[in-house]
Amino acid sequence: MKQCGYCAKEIDYHHQYCCDECEKNALIFFNDEKKSERIISIVNVLGFLGVMLGGLAAIIFDASIGSFVCSGCLFLLGIVFLFFPFAPESIINKFKIKKSIKLIRIFAAVLLALGLILLLLGFFVF
Ligand SMILES: [Zn+2]
Repeated sequence: MKQCGYCAKEIDYHHQYCCDECEKNALIFFNDEKKSERIISIVNVLGFLGVMLGGLAAIIFDASIGSFVCSGCLFLLGIVFLFFPFAPESIINKFKIKKSIKLIRIFAAVLLALGLILLLLGFFVF
């Protein structure tokens, strides 16, 4: 059975979406994705690099400064994924748009939680 490209409801083979609402939402999604593509990839690279640099700094330089850098980058990534919940195409194909947005938001929440934990560790433990 084919699934609606937005909400993953089962539909017949002649349609791509189950209703006008889903088609409209999907168009908005792809449009927004295209517009924010570049910003997201730049922030992703910077964020992950920052996390790695922070980790390195924590090991060789100063644990609390390193963890602050890491947590700052995790917050940055978490906020970006929260407001720009665009999953890679393979995930969208598998779960359809609606669920992929939810998955990315959960991922964002995990990043924010990790950032918070590191921040607290930097303050109170290291
Ligand atoms: Zn639908």
